[in-house]
Amino acid sequence: MYHHVKKLMYTVNVGDPDPRFGKMLLEQFGGANGELAAALQYSIQGLNCEDPGRKDLLMDIGTEELSHLEVIGSLARMHLKPLKEGDKSEAEQDPLIAVVGGGGVSLNNSQGNPWTADYLKISGQIEVDLRSNIAAEARAKITYERLINYCDCPGTKDALKFLMTREIAHMKAFGAALESLSKGPLEIGELPVMDEYVNKYFNDSTGEGELGEDTTGPWNSGNGWEVVNNPGFDSAGK
Ligand code: MN
Ligand code: MN
Repeated sequence: MYHHVKKLMYTVNVGDPDPRFGKMLLEQFGGANGELAAALQYSIQGLNCEDPGRKDLLMDIGTEELSHLEVIGSLARMHLKPLKEGDKSEAEQDPLIAVVGGGGVSLNNSQGNPWTADYLKISGQIEVDLRSNIAAEARAKITYERLINYCDCPGTKDALKFLMTREIAHMKAFGAALESLSKGPLEIGELPVMDEYVNKYFNDSTGEGELGEDTTGPWNSGNGWEVVNNPGFDSAGK
């Protein structure tokens, strides 16, 4: 069950409203990497999860993301306030928000595209979901970082830094939940993979001199890798 507490998770202090920045904030409200997407992705994954510990983790973080949605929605609303006050030139900046939404927030991204459940990654397989969540937190972190870099208001920046920091805390928890599964890092799902192919690195971009040089790193050397050059010319590396 859910319980609403009548105060924000983090106090927000907004100085002068900045409607153009308010629109950018909507990316974290109804956008692909935003707080509603995070809240629903983790909560629905939690419903599907049969491991009680990881289910609890998913529901805890999913619920926290709803609290983030409340903070970002409150921030966006404060910045969009001039679109609510009947000033024609402000309203012309964004007719969707001013005329359709009455200056309030709705579930659209910064460009006015509606939120969609297509944003959610829910696989029904815990090690896959946890990887999706680590990537989602990374995208949320970098989105907050960019918003902070475009923000002139100290109070808004402070709240965005809090939200950004929490995403890394979530990444830490999801990472630990993934590492502590009784599965190796490359064990996904149930079926074993084919031994003769799993350690082959197909070098599909061979070249020399002006055509560019190949590079090496742990992604194609050491670690049991066998490099297969030009598999396209040699029957797929067999
Ligand atoms: Mn969040
Ligand atoms: Mn998060």
